[in-house]
Amino acid sequence: MTDFDYDLVIIGAGPAGLTAHQNAKEVVLSDKSLTAKSLIIASGASPKKLGIGEDRYMGKGISFCATCDAPFFKDKTVVAIGGGDTAVQESIYLTKFAKKVYLVHRRDELRAAKILQERAFANDKIEMVWDTVATGVEGLFGIEGVHVRNVKTNVEKTLAASGCFIWVGTLPNTEFLGDDVKTDEFGFIRADARMQTNVPGVFAAGDIRDTPLRQVSTAVGDGAIAAVSAEHYIENL
Ligand SMILES: Cc1cc2nc3c(=O)[nH]c(=O)nc-3n(C[C@H](O)[C@H](O)[C@H](O)COP(=O)(O)OP(=O)(O)OC[C@H]3O[C@@H](n4cnc5c(N)ncnc54)[C@H](O)[C@@H]3O)c2cc1C
Repeated sequence: MTDFDYDLVIIGAGPAGLTAHQNAKEVVLSDKSLTAKSLIIASGASPKKLGIGEDRYMGKGISFCATCDAPFFKDKTVVAIGGGDTAVQESIYLTKFAKKVYLVHRRDELRAAKILQERAFANDKIEMVWDTVATGVEGLFGIEGVHVRNVKTNVEKTLAASGCFIWVGTLPNTEFLGDDVKTDEFGFIRADARMQTNVPGVFAAGDIRDTPLRQVSTAVGDGAIAAVSAEHYIENL
């Protein structure tokens, strides 16, 4: 059998490339390459950005997390962007703190589950802004307004708000992955209940996986299973 540098390499800190065949698992870093008997890929996922000033205003009014940041907007007006389960659920959560939530959605109906839609429509702090996309934000030290455009009429306006929460999807951090490890149509790695991917000895854990729930608790559980599976794999080589 080939000599390996390591028994197990866990990917979660910036490899440039990955080759993962049955007997050739190679992780290319910026300055060197590592070979391993087994790999756990745990590079996570990132919230999709809209390019409306996320980098400049992150932590100064733009957020991707109501649970983390909603209390900063007590009695303020905020804009939420999106139309799926996360956007609607998080907007409802925001109303516990904010005095008003504009929910901006690019279509004229939501994708979210019916029950969430009913709760949002019944919530008098939420105002739906249909057929509308966000095009930018303004404010000197923090957000003071969110620029929006109606996609049917092309009318532009600014919603006065102190915060802007963006929930338009999640992108897997798989730019290094190559073609060996199979993913779903959105790029999340397919893995079975033992976190095994299509390549023997290569495991995936956490947000990078095609999982129904991306939370710390599920990521930690995945990680524990992947570690035990990798150990069994190496023992049985
Ligand atoms: C804004 C926000 C708020 C959240 N709030 C909560 C919450 O309140 N409660 C909760 O349970 N969950 C929350 N989550 C989800 C939770 O953070 C994730 O489910 C969890 O961190 C997933 O763990 P992970 O190890 O899979 O990925 P991560 O924690 O994302 O770790 C992945 C690691 O891989 C690294 N990486 C990225 N790209 C590469 C690459 N190309 N190569 C190698 N490494 C790379 C990253 O830098 C990172 O260190 C939140 C997520 C976000 C975005």
